[in-house]
Amino acid sequence: MVEIRLTNTKTRGKEAFAPIDPQNVRLYLCGPTVYDRAHLGNARPVVVIDVLVALLRHVYGVDHVTYVRNFTDVDDKINATALSRQQAGAPGTLEDLIRERTQETIGWYHADMDALGAARPDHEPRATDYIAQMITMIEKLIADGHAYARDGHALFRVRSYKDYGKLSGRSVDDMIAGARVEVAPFKEDPMDFVLWKPSDAELPGWDSPWGRGRPGWHIECSAMSYELLGESFDIHAGGIDLQFPHHENEIAQSACAHPHGDFARVWLHNEMLQVEGKKMAKSLGNFFTVRDLLDKRVPGEVIRFVLLSTHYRKPMDWTDEKARAAEDALWEWRVLTKGVEPAAEPDPRVIEALADDLNTAGAISVLYTLKDDPAKLLASARFLGLLRPDMGAWMTQDLAAIDSVSVPVADVLAGLTQQLTDLRIAAQESKDYAALDALKSALTEAGIEVRMSKTGVELVAGPRVDAQKLGTLL
Ligand SMILES: [Zn+2]
Repeated sequence: MVEIRLTNTKTRGKEAFAPIDPQNVRLYLCGPTVYDRAHLGNARPVVVIDVLVALLRHVYGVDHVTYVRNFTDVDDKINATALSRQQAGAPGTLEDLIRERTQETIGWYHADMDALGAARPDHEPRATDYIAQMITMIEKLIADGHAYARDGHALFRVRSYKDYGKLSGRSVDDMIAGARVEVAPFKEDPMDFVLWKPSDAELPGWDSPWGRGRPGWHIECSAMSYELLGESFDIHAGGIDLQFPHHENEIAQSACAHPHGDFARVWLHNEMLQVEGKKMAKSLGNFFTVRDLLDKRVPGEVIRFVLLSTHYRKPMDWTDEKARAAEDALWEWRVLTKGVEPAAEPDPRVIEALADDLNTAGAISVLYTLKDDPAKLLASARFLGLLRPDMGAWMTQDLAAIDSVSVPVADVLAGLTQQLTDLRIAAQESKDYAALDALKSALTEAGIEVRMSKTGVELVAGPRVDAQKLGTLL
């Protein structure tokens, strides 16, 4: 059996992965807060974990992996959007408008992640469907002295959990000094965090032993992972920005509510995404969503390729140049593997690279060495979620665009092939290659690859065909 090695944030080392139950390998990924379109940074963990799940299924069996990713559908940003819609005259209760907004956003999220070739998880729990389980967990924490109720709030007593801060390597006093905590009159200690908070009439709320209110963010992941994966599971993943406070708080809640469990054994954190060397931020004007890229006709397959071309533990820099190079490589491989049946197994070096702490960049570099073996190339690329039949429409769409402005592309290429063949024969007789070379370079400039061999001339449309230039050559 392939040995998978993963870097565990909890132990800060790369370790051999040994599932609690190889019959049911369990993984949880913190999902999106559904108030708006997913930005490109949100897509990184989704694509990375999609490859990890494929690897786990390859090693332990398709039916022996359970993958959970939640939707946070109760959040102040969602509430604010719903309230402003209601104030603008939208019909329905606030709860209706919230449900409408989150439903719409979940639809967008699915469409965008599907376009990146990411398989849907086995379970996609919505926080609002697990309110009762969250209340039960909070009641247990209060009964055991790890939490307390005050002024309509329930708060976690951070100093009751001695290992708090261990995951991110911080001490409680350092965290207080870092001033990342909110001081409030209802808190015993500034470090304590909210498990439940009261809702006024303008906010969604549920009845609870502490009055009408809504849950804090952290408790939802603890409650949902417990319900769907149990008190101990194998892998918990998420962006490095969630390590503190979100993941520290998840650990504290789960460890105190279920002291006999391990919660998550392995913690995987992916680094952040930058754009052209800069942090992605609305204020810098370089903030974009997955949908923005798809609308600019950057294929989902290209986005996936670029996201996988950097190791998940390194900051990822999105550049237009990388997207162009990815598009060129995918185009070439799709041409090479056209009509080819994939080999039964991917190249073992692809599996080896992935088993070594999910080295997706290494796996992609193997693909470049497989051009002489299209069947192997196809099987290996598909293992990474690339060159799949359902993701190749972008090639034909580009060619269809040429069809719409001139004669069908096949006719254009056939005409130009004939022209080039005639010029070649004439040049060989006259030893004057000027006209031949001029047409060759004009074709290259129009995005057509010219292949000349003893047997003849072949023209292959590349990924960036300039239809107008091409039209003038015929
Ligand atoms: Zn979470």
